Amino acid sequence: MPKDTPDLLPDAHIDAARYEEMYAASVNDPEGFWGEHGKRIDWIKPYTKVKDTSFAHDNVHVKWFEDGTLNVSANCIDRHLESRGDQTAIIFEPDDPNDEAKHITYEQLAKEVGTFANVLKECGVRKGDRVVLYLPMIPEAAYAMLACARIGAIHSIVFAGFSPDALAARVNGSGAKLVITADGAPRGGRVTELKDNVNKALLHNVLGTRCLVVKRTGDQVAWVGGRDIWYDDLAERVSSDCPPEEMNAEDPLFILYTSGSTGQPKGVVHTTGGYLVYASMTHEYTFDYKDGDVFWCTADVGWVTGHSYIVYGPLANGATTLMFEGVPTYPDAGRFWQVCEKHKVNQFYTAPTAIRALMGKGTGFVEKYDLSSLKLLGTVGEPINPEAWNWYNENVGKGTCPIVDTWWQTETGGHMMTPLPGAHTLKPGAAQKPFFGVQPLVLDPTSGEVVEGNGVEGVLVIADSWPGQMRTVYGDHDRFVQTYFSDYKGYYFSGDGCRRDADGDYWITGRVDDVINVSGHRMGTAEVESALVAHETVSEAAVVGYPHPVKGQGIYCYVTLMNDETPSDELKKTLSDWVRREIGPIAKPDVIQWAPGLPKTRSGKIMRRILRKIAENDFDSLGDTSTLADPSVVDELIENREKG
Ligand code: ATP
Ligand code: MG
Repeated sequence: MPKDTPDLLPDAHIDAARYEEMYAASVNDPEGFWGEHGKRIDWIKPYTKVKDTSFAHDNVHVKWFEDGTLNVSANCIDRHLESRGDQTAIIFEPDDPNDEAKHITYEQLAKEVGTFANVLKECGVRKGDRVVLYLPMIPEAAYAMLACARIGAIHSIVFAGFSPDALAARVNGSGAKLVITADGAPRGGRVTELKDNVNKALLHNVLGTRCLVVKRTGDQVAWVGGRDIWYDDLAERVSSDCPPEEMNAEDPLFILYTSGSTGQPKGVVHTTGGYLVYASMTHEYTFDYKDGDVFWCTADVGWVTGHSYIVYGPLANGATTLMFEGVPTYPDAGRFWQVCEKHKVNQFYTAPTAIRALMGKGTGFVEKYDLSSLKLLGTVGEPINPEAWNWYNENVGKGTCPIVDTWWQTETGGHMMTPLPGAHTLKPGAAQKPFFGVQPLVLDPTSGEVVEGNGVEGVLVIADSWPGQMRTVYGDHDRFVQTYFSDYKGYYFSGDGCRRDADGDYWITGRVDDVINVSGHRMGTAEVESALVAHETVSEAAVVGYPHPVKGQGIYCYVTLMNDETPSDELKKTLSDWVRREIGPIAKPDVIQWAPGLPKTRSGKIMRRILRKIAENDFDSLGDTSTLADPSVVDELIENREKG
């Protein structure tokens, strides 16, 4: 049953007419459009060239503002000091709700980052050197990022939940001179011994990588003399003043590995100028950020979402950005909402996986808190099923906060498709419209031909470059070309499928690998999953195809039930009939397997690649599982595999 959607924001930066006008300008005259909008950040030497890009298979290159120079940290800090030095830049909310939150002003941020930058120099870090950050969600993570940017070092953040092996691969892969970590990371009431993990990761390090340690828990740590350095020891000796390095627009800002949902993670390289223009512009327009608002993105800085929408986008805009160290369910499932109330959050941005998890705990946890400060909600990371969208809208947004469903990737630097809250009437589950400068096309997956018109479906490619686009895969430009520009020549291939509906709005149907072909009917697995999750007994579902003697591919469903439900064959039949009724006979599941847990990446995305292998009975080639949050889930699923 269709539900009402929230009204548009009345006084938003971008209304419907303005969107149309700006979008047309952005694609008809990209040089002129970005030449103008590039000025939203401060340049040391202004650019005279705007765009030099090619998606031609034999000559892929992406350059924006290439003769301009700037410093990203100066854009995020120094330029705000005169007008808003006393304004809070970062609100830090610690893991334990009884510990005090911190409010760091722009003035303080300048001193902290200046000090951190001088500490990096003391450690021998120079322009162009790589620095790995393996830190909790504490202000020092932002200081370290901005300090690298200040001196022109390239940071590569590794999510603090990753194992020593995964960390070692990324330290060696980037040839890092320094790893910055903390003694420990409190999260959800437990402490991860980060320094111990670094010790293991650096055990066989031959690069001479050193380790800078920030104090968080005060726990005892094992120390390697000559290699390890306490941050505090150096910080008290250096000045808090560090002039920003003049960087070229195309100098790298950071390397970041993708989450590994589909295979070996890729070392995505972003540069300074175009990235910052794009991150700050999308932050302002997508979230309709206004001066004085408190913005909260719940992602970890270890993901691109944290880079663009906790640190770089908001701070470039002079915003107040919230950094949360904890998890949504500690001390209980009301934590997000308690933090929203406490800090009077205006825009709240999270992932569907978090919403689904909280949905399963009931509405009591939301109702306890005053959420009247919220103006807008957002999601990112996966398609959001309408069930979760409606729950978010009704219980968190109280039906009055537009929800921006932002489709984008580590590779894209910022939002690619999203409704704008003052311009587009919402459709639950749709990414709807391209952001300025983004030219999406739908291709026929087999022929590679462009599919024109509305009411069509296929693979999603982008026809031309935008400033936030990744420039290369670190140390492997061929892999960049192979991965993104080879399957469909002349286009950037996203790896995702999409539908353009009768109104010309876009819906992401999931990864192209996740499309199944049942008796000649192509179907996105996301659709079957949405139907399953819409049933009251189901908390989460993952659907994959497997070889079927008659249909070509059969539908294999992994289903996690709500806490208080009991699995039974009868319930399987109920669910099977339910999907058949919701979507049609063609979508009736062939196999349902109860799954107490699903294999997920550390960023919470379901790894269907592994589920496919299990469904195919092919347990020997599960591939890279190093980015799994809980590998034991896989053994459980293999053990209880159902026969198709
Ligand atoms: P890898 O590329 O290593 O397999 P990954 O694709 O999960 O990992 P990310 O860059 O973190 O790495 O995720 C981007 C992907 O997440 C998109 O390609 C898309 O599949 C999915 N995604 C992100 N946001 C949305 C959204 N709003 N709607 C639908 N899907 C989304
Ligand atoms: Mg990807």
